[in-house]
Amino acid sequence: MSDERLEIDFSLDPNEIKVPKCRHGPTLLFRSSTQRFFACSACRDRRDCQIYVPFGKRRKNYVKQFENEFRQFRKLVRQIQKKKKRNFFFCHTCSNVFFEGEQSEHVDHRTTKRLTRKEISRPCQTILQPLKNKRSDAQFFFSSNFIDYFIGKIVEPGQWDAVLCIGCPTLFENLREKSTIRSFLLDFDLRLCSFYSSKKMLLFNMFNGHVFSREKTFREEFLSSIENCLVVVDPPFGGFHRALAHSLDEFWKTRNATNIRRQLILFNPYFLSKWVVDAFPQLKMLDYKIEYSSTLNLCRGRKGSPVRIFTDVDPSLFPPVDDENYKFCFECNRFVFAINRHCFQCQTCPSKNGQPSRHCSECQRCVQADRKHCSKCSFCHLPNRCEK
Ligand SMILES: [Zn+2]
Ligand SMILES: [Zn+2]
Ligand SMILES: [Zn+2]
Ligand SMILES: [Zn+2]
Ligand SMILES: [Zn+2]
Ligand SMILES: [Zn+2]
Repeated sequence: MSDERLEIDFSLDPNEIKVPKCRHGPTLLFRSSTQRFFACSACRDRRDCQIYVPFGKRRKNYVKQFENEFRQFRKLVRQIQKKKKRNFFFCHTCSNVFFEGEQSEHVDHRTTKRLTRKEISRPCQTILQPLKNKRSDAQFFFSSNFIDYFIGKIVEPGQWDAVLCIGCPTLFENLREKSTIRSFLLDFDLRLCSFYSSKKMLLFNMFNGHVFSREKTFREEFLSSIENCLVVVDPPFGGFHRALAHSLDEFWKTRNATNIRRQLILFNPYFLSKWVVDAFPQLKMLDYKIEYSSTLNLCRGRKGSPVRIFTDVDPSLFPPVDDENYKFCFECNRFVFAINRHCFQCQTCPSKNGQPSRHCSECQRCVQADRKHCSKCSFCHLPNRCEK
């Protein structure tokens, strides 16, 4: 997610300097040791979104083309969200719904039959496949086991009066179906706008905080009536952590909603924990392996899912996702991988992937048990893997 050489500069005041926009909304200002430039907030790969504007250089005509795309996209979102949500079909080829009488426009396309009310109310479970082509919008849907755990064991017993789902549409549709708690979806998947009007969902880019939908209902009915909100974020793992943290912060400030108590649950792979904690220092990682329903199993390594919960909710409030693989550690005050032995030097249960570990007094940290301390490079590594 985070490139060490590239920093994001948040010091700009958007009221003073006109920030170029692309289809994904306002760009971010990046800074390296040699240059400053605006580039897309959502796409790391220039092939996915090409905008690139060196700071201080006026490139009006070049920027115009991207701003047109931005305006057209926003208009499209609003049009789709305004359509009545019944008696329609879904075209997978166009990623959009169409109505009786419009079939001729989708003759050679892959389409559904007329959607039932039930299908319309749970698009992720019945119609849509997770997006997977690009790093910027890679998407996974949670497994139904995990969703039941999450709603039954975390959300329902909790003290929150609302759940704001950011980038987790499967959780959102299950909450609507199975729980009475209020919820709202913020997501950047345009397909979802066919199913949810702006009364239920905002099209939202979590990396620059831009909202493409009309916010009336969200502000006047949702935000104004809640006091204690659980914010659940499932970002594409290729995005910028600091941009996400910054935009979430600004999100509440610019809506005068900082009086709402908020707690955060964020999903990310354990091997990105350094970047998560860098951007969200208040979050702690839990050991539970989070399962997704993806048919491709892109997310599963040999050791099962690498995705974990990062949260500022008291970790002892999370019962284990299953009874076999976890135990309670009284020192850490949370459930940990059963294989863990609490390390009193590091003051933690060290295993992040369910593999055994031991403390190395020379490295002064816990290492995987199959590594040996090497006197040549003063490092712990697998036998015969010395880099010296
Ligand atoms: Zn873009
Ligand atoms: Zn079509
Ligand atoms: Zn422990
Ligand atoms: Zn240790
Ligand atoms: Zn060592
Ligand atoms: Zn060595």
